[in-house]
Amino acid sequence: MQPLLIGDQRPRGQSAIRVMEPAHARPLDEVAAAGPQDLDGAVAAAKKAFPMWSALSVVARADLLFRFSDLVREHGEELAKLEARNVGKPIGGARWEAGHVADTLRYYAGAADKFFGHTIGTNKGGIDLTLHDPLGVVGLIVPWNFPMVIATWKLAPALACGNTVVLKPASLTPLSALRLGELALEAGIPPGVVNVVPGPGAAIGAALASHPDVAKIGFTGETATGRAIMAAAAQTIKRIGLELGGKSPNIIFADVDIQEVASQAAGSVFDNAGQDCCARSRIIVERKIAEPFIEALKATTEAIVVGDPLDEKTQMGPLVSQGQRERVESYIGIGQNEGAKLVCGGKRPEGEGYFLRPAAFAEAHPRMRIVDEEIFGPVVVVLTFDTEDEAVALANDTIYGLSGSLWTNDLKRGLRVARAVKTGNMSVNSSSSVHLQAPFGGYKQSGLGRELGMYAMEHYTEVKNIYFETR
Ligand code: NDP
Repeated sequence: MQPLLIGDQRPRGQSAIRVMEPAHARPLDEVAAAGPQDLDGAVAAAKKAFPMWSALSVVARADLLFRFSDLVREHGEELAKLEARNVGKPIGGARWEAGHVADTLRYYAGAADKFFGHTIGTNKGGIDLTLHDPLGVVGLIVPWNFPMVIATWKLAPALACGNTVVLKPASLTPLSALRLGELALEAGIPPGVVNVVPGPGAAIGAALASHPDVAKIGFTGETATGRAIMAAAAQTIKRIGLELGGKSPNIIFADVDIQEVASQAAGSVFDNAGQDCCARSRIIVERKIAEPFIEALKATTEAIVVGDPLDEKTQMGPLVSQGQRERVESYIGIGQNEGAKLVCGGKRPEGEGYFLRPAAFAEAHPRMRIVDEEIFGPVVVVLTFDTEDEAVALANDTIYGLSGSLWTNDLKRGLRVARAVKTGNMSVNSSSSVHLQAPFGGYKQSGLGRELGMYAMEHYTEVKNIYFETR
């Protein structure tokens, strides 16, 4: 059984989590689950390490983070295989993610000595300056879809700013977080700076969110859990960063190459088996090309190679768990009952594992649950529009606002529509949402705050203002 990581201790926790391999529906490993005392111990270890870590020079902290990044890169194949087996994601994507984790650590190592305050002219004659103070102990609660990537988006800026961390990975996917914790120690980051405590969200996650010695919670997960964390954090006025759900639009105007955009549209929702908060799960296509577009989308979707995540040819692996597959299947039934037309997919292929063929629905409309709710699986819905205003109104007709794409060869229209859609990230003629150097986060019920880029540094610090009288 893999133990917890608390300071320089490896406790065996209060119970055990059986970690599954979704492609084979069989156990992969066993991990210790923290109890309340373990959590208190992890917060205490982080609190003890904070004065030393925050007092290190920014250059010393950067050196350790560079070393951490190098070690992640050296262990890239191991981490990629771990993630591919535990989450069920294709190995090619998992390799990219391991590289991205190393890049993220390197970016924030480089940021550590480049994040500074201002001197400010005031109406008094002295000198006013700002400093960025670390917050203290930061609790990080992360989901199962991109376990090590999302953990690192929080861990790296938190550490670069001088905070210490208690990381609670999702119970389905705790393996890469524990390995990252071990590599942090191996890099020379002192014990207690990074603590990793797998455990049940409703108990250990909730206890972390309400712990009086935790200054901030960085959370990624469901919007409903985000609300619970916000309420728990209110008791001690904790800082919170929330990256929550999405139902992102993919707006397609008639002046594009239909085949190419259909292929991009399929990729942008079925990657990671649709278990992606940025999935463009609502296609909004101009009516005059709707018919050929849906035909092209069907052909592309049916050609997706679903299979073993460790097979290099695989484009889509299984869903993460039996429960997640059943949830997605229930939405296939809901969509059909609501009157949408299932164009393809939605069936289990033969064999073991939590696989499901990617599905597309046409004739979908707002207020259908498959259009309004985040399914978090390989299901896309297609809506149609006649005018630009209608496209924007449909895109904005959601409680979410995380991501999105639009496709057109009209540059002015591209900019106009990108500005009008209420979403934190909008890509024009591209499916990408994540750029390490640029901010990432949601409008509306998709979240609070921004990750990545230098924006993240602001969220792991307090601004202190100091005024010097000089007369
Ligand atoms: P959950 O919200 O269920 O879980 C996320 C994390 O929170 C897990 O570690 C979980 O622990 C923990 N948790 C569960 N309940 C509580 C609680 N009451 N208090 C504190 N922590 C708790 O989300 P999923 O893991 O199901 O992830 C999928 C969701 O994440 C999707 O809705 C998706 O949109 C969103 N997501 C958002 C992203 C973004 O950047 N906006 C990125 C990726 C995903 P445990 O596993 O033990 O239950």
